[in-house]
Amino acid sequence: MTTHTSYWKAETHPPALEPVSRSMETDILVIGGGITGVTTAYLLQQAGREVMLIEGKTLGAGVTSSTSGHLTPAFDSHYYQLIQDFDLNTARQIYQAMTAAIDTIEHITQQELLDCNFKRIPGYLYAEIENQLEELEKEFTASLDVGMNAQWADQLPLPFRTQKGIIYHHHAQFHVLRYLYGLAQKLVEKGARLYVQTRAVQVSEEEDKVRVSLENGHTLTARQVVMATHAPLGLNPIQTEVAPYRSYVMAAKVKKLPEEGLYWDLYDPYHYTRRAQYKGQDVLIVGGCDHKTGQKTDTKQSYAALQQYINSRFGLEEVLFSWSGQVFEPVDGLPFIGKSPFQKNTYIATGYSGDGLTWGTAAAHILTDLITAHDNPLVDIVSPNRMNVMASAKDFVKENINVAYHFVKDRLSVDADTLKDIAAGEGKIIRHQGKQMAVYCDEHGHYHALDPVCSHMKCIVQWNSAEKTWDCPCHGGRFSWTGENLDAPPLHRLKPIDLKVE
Ligand SMILES: Cc1cc2nc3c(=O)[nH]c(=O)nc-3n(C[C@H](O)[C@H](O)[C@H](O)COP(=O)(O)OP(=O)(O)OC[C@H]3O[C@@H](n4cnc5c(N)ncnc54)[C@H](O)[C@@H]3O)c2cc1C
Repeated sequence: MTTHTSYWKAETHPPALEPVSRSMETDILVIGGGITGVTTAYLLQQAGREVMLIEGKTLGAGVTSSTSGHLTPAFDSHYYQLIQDFDLNTARQIYQAMTAAIDTIEHITQQELLDCNFKRIPGYLYAEIENQLEELEKEFTASLDVGMNAQWADQLPLPFRTQKGIIYHHHAQFHVLRYLYGLAQKLVEKGARLYVQTRAVQVSEEEDKVRVSLENGHTLTARQVVMATHAPLGLNPIQTEVAPYRSYVMAAKVKKLPEEGLYWDLYDPYHYTRRAQYKGQDVLIVGGCDHKTGQKTDTKQSYAALQQYINSRFGLEEVLFSWSGQVFEPVDGLPFIGKSPFQKNTYIATGYSGDGLTWGTAAAHILTDLITAHDNPLVDIVSPNRMNVMASAKDFVKENINVAYHFVKDRLSVDADTLKDIAAGEGKIIRHQGKQMAVYCDEHGHYHALDPVCSHMKCIVQWNSAEKTWDCPCHGGRFSWTGENLDAPPLHRLKPIDLKVE
């Protein structure tokens, strides 16, 4: 049976936490309870700082529970590209930081006795077809140049035909939510204040403090705020430097399992595969089929394509779980971690691509070092205030032309002419009563209308058929069909419209 939820949420239970129930002050406030927020709170607490963390939903409810759980220092946009766009020294520092992040996860797991199945296993990057070989060779050379423990492989332990590959030693896998929940529990035991169901709706800097207004009417005041919300909340110049993409994952029983390892290929978008355990059985977690958020309505087709991929390579027996999540692709390949542009006491961390478990942990180190005034060699390299025109120009122009195109085109277009064109279970943008509206027709035939203008930067949201959500094609804001916020950056919900049905 397919359950449309992430594998990681099955058989795991978050620590019991309450919402904020009064206005309070703290030294450092972390907003967001994913891997970035919880790890940052942990490292700051270890450094002796007073930390409070708020999470809008439940811990790990964001992309951290949509992941596939690979821990790899292999760089998502490839090291050969990084060396070309920056230089070898930068690439080496990135590799070292990502390796150190995985070591941190291993160390915390051992130190805090976290039961999260952390295991060192090999990683494999492979070419499935001949015309991917040249890129594979370039990446092999670059991998050795940055210092990776890599080996050329003529054969791969996969149950289907491939060309060559690279074996990376000492990668790792773990159960991400068991790790996150265990770490949060330790934080609470050591005196940090953690709250859930507590959404920030405004973050404003004052003289020497930051004021955070909450949806429930209370206010939190901190000396420093870390926005660990995957994308910075509200309007932030960094949003023009990262582009939102959705990626699809399935956990499935298959006929032919590969050897234990992390696998990813060289297609664009690429597929990624690892093994996991479910009810005492070996299963496979496979992901891929990415597309830009809000720019594909028939997202059921993405699940179908992934299912077809799994069947053709591994022999599909049963899909146990299927889910999707968002990644933010930075225009120059590197994430943005550090002080938010034009702010004194607000920090951000975003643009991790598909390596956010490693980057989220590296970000926790960088932000802790920045806040506690310790040196960190990555501060300038990943600074949100950096300027690398050469590396970013092409993708910056491409992504922002795409945003401008949707800003204009989507205002002028509708998916249907009348309410009757919307089938039960479907959503469409229509023009009704002289207004453009986002209308969802529920299973009972009742219509639910929303103002389709995204509360972030006023683009028009688009229907996502598989998730039954309204997704913004510009900066990745997402909303439920009732209009509630799902993914940052928007701070506010979509406004309901009182629909008159003739
Ligand atoms: C399909 C998929 C597969 C992936 N696979 C891998 C992988 O194998 N390896 C890897 O390293 N990375 C992978 N990634 C990337 C990685 O999972 C993410 O980059 C990482 O989990 C991001 O963590 P985060 O803590 O920054 O964000 P999140 O986990 O999204 O946490 C942000 C939190 O902030 C909360 N929040 C948002 N707005 C507010 C608000 N206004 N007030 C309060 N709280 C708020 C959200 O509810 C959320 O819980 C994958 C991503 C996807 C989508």
